[in-house]
Amino acid sequence: MREVPAMSDQHSDAPLRYEVVVIGSGFGGGTVALRLAQAGKKVLVLERGRRWRGKNLIPQDGDPAATPFPQIGESHFFWGSQIWHPSRQRLGLFELRQMLNLQGVAAAGVGGGSLVWGNVAIEAPENIFRAGWPGDITYEVLQPYYRKAEGYLLPLFVPGVPGIPGEKNRRVIRSEMFKAVAEKTGKKWQPVRVAVNFGDEAVPHANGHGHARQLGCNYCGLCSAGCPQNAKNTVDITYLAEAEALGAEVRPLTEVTHLESHNGTYRIHFRRYELDGRVAERGSISSHNVVLAAGTFGTTELLLQSKARGGLPGISKALGTRFSVNGNVLSGALRRDATDDEIAKLDTNSGPAIGSMINCGSFAIEDFANPTWTAGMIGGSNFGRVWSFLRALAGHPAGAEAMRKKAKDLLVYIGVGRDESRGRLKLNAFGSLSLEWPGGINSDPVVRELHQTMAELAHAQGREYVPNVFSIFDRPLTYHPLGGCPMADSQDSGVVDSCGRVFGYRGLYLADGSVIPTAVGRNPSFTIAAVAERIAERMLQTIVNQEAPPTPVCK
Ligand SMILES: Cc1cc2nc3c(=O)[nH]c(=O)nc-3n(C[C@H](O)[C@H](O)[C@H](O)COP(=O)(O)OP(=O)(O)OC[C@H]3O[C@@H](n4cnc5c(N)ncnc54)[C@H](O)[C@@H]3O)c2cc1C
Ligand code: SF4
Repeated sequence: MREVPAMSDQHSDAPLRYEVVVIGSGFGGGTVALRLAQAGKKVLVLERGRRWRGKNLIPQDGDPAATPFPQIGESHFFWGSQIWHPSRQRLGLFELRQMLNLQGVAAAGVGGGSLVWGNVAIEAPENIFRAGWPGDITYEVLQPYYRKAEGYLLPLFVPGVPGIPGEKNRRVIRSEMFKAVAEKTGKKWQPVRVAVNFGDEAVPHANGHGHARQLGCNYCGLCSAGCPQNAKNTVDITYLAEAEALGAEVRPLTEVTHLESHNGTYRIHFRRYELDGRVAERGSISSHNVVLAAGTFGTTELLLQSKARGGLPGISKALGTRFSVNGNVLSGALRRDATDDEIAKLDTNSGPAIGSMINCGSFAIEDFANPTWTAGMIGGSNFGRVWSFLRALAGHPAGAEAMRKKAKDLLVYIGVGRDESRGRLKLNAFGSLSLEWPGGINSDPVVRELHQTMAELAHAQGREYVPNVFSIFDRPLTYHPLGGCPMADSQDSGVVDSCGRVFGYRGLYLADGSVIPTAVGRNPSFTIAAVAERIAERMLQTIVNQEAPPTPVCK
């Protein structure tokens, strides 16, 4: 793997070294970087996080201080060095966006959210595209782009989920229980496809694109904390590995702070970190073409910061709008009186993070394995268990043991739905993102319906319904933030057109969750990748270079 030292391109008259600079390396950035590299473009990818890979999530760059892969019951997971917090010298895998009325979780690392996702690759329902989207993006229009994304993510049903053939010793008990409760309550149950290698051990990445050796999934259920087997078909070992093989340069540990537009070029200001979190360098680099793909929070924040500093003064007034939490509700179902014997018989963590869902049309509920953080938020932090939670937080072995036990028995429900996308992201007085959501997110009809249906499922399973602790305090958690820079037919209602081009800024593109103008009601990454495929295709027709004719209309 090539490591490219971060170098400033300080002189405005220096020849521009890269035809395109992509900021962020998740589903959107990885897709665009690959397609541009395939077309022979000189591409640079700037990514704030490190390279994470392989057994025990020991970073490839060999940081000796890296925290070992967290195990069930270990409490340091969310509060320890797994957090992305450079000002506290922490360059961990998870970013927690703390706002007064919302908590957002995202990943920091080469590969973006794919490093921690639950692997579910699912299309948005057809009716999602009927309102709120630019006229030329429909379910039918996106179909070929979903197929392109499928060629890299290679989603499969999970062997061992009811109805999916698999080895006898591989059961996904959560999904069996989910199917049973769907039948009992008269709801529609279905298996979901996940981007995971279920092949034999020591099989290289099956699609031939990846350059990393993958092992077969071992059903450990820790997908949302990374993958100790490399079995997940993540963006770093699929799209980006191929892009790098074709000459794209990826600079990890390089965080972009803001952009400035100057006579047809963009100056991109960044800081580069050492592995211990110290800032090694501040610099800037210029390009005629920039693709912002720093994720919903990252891209919206970068544009807000750039606008506030006067670098991009003409950005649409729609910046920050149509923010959605994709109806996210994370809850659980507990047995308060389960005996040790009963708990020992049930391992709800077995299998990849998600195996199936209950499809309720405008929303869906998925069965979820429960690594430490969900056990912490749902089981441990639930009232009546406060003592074990606090002890676990403090790293006390007895607290960790209690959490481990709880995690084995806890059923976790992941909710996704079509909320009304009424959020608006802004910068607060400290320059951080804040959210306005009239009435609060918990007042959204789909969020309310999700809580009701989850409670119904929990009771039908003979358990107590326990929303996660943040939701109780009207500060829900989102793992699927969308919007903030919505695509639209005009600058009055959107930041970009349907080709991802920022209105008013030739050569500036967005390609990630921030452009998705409505909740998609299902896990969003497959749709983000499909939309990014279309943006990359259109970009290749309109890319700015010295001889380029005026930018054609986006169709
Ligand atoms: C625990 C968890 C489980 C999930 N499970 C699923 C699932 O099963 N299915 C699904 O569809 N979705 C899932 N998601 C959501 C999914 O991860 C996101 O929707 C998806 O990753 C968004 O893609 P993106 O391209 O918009 O941004 P991201 O994938 O978030 O990529 C953005 C990248 O930009 C980098 N970046 C940010 N700011 C800067 C900056 N200033 N400078 C340089 N780099 C920057 C980030 O480090 C990151 O690598 C899950 C999310 C979480 C947190
Ligand atoms: S269950 Fe998830 S984390 Fe565990 S090996 Fe399989 S894909 Fe990786």
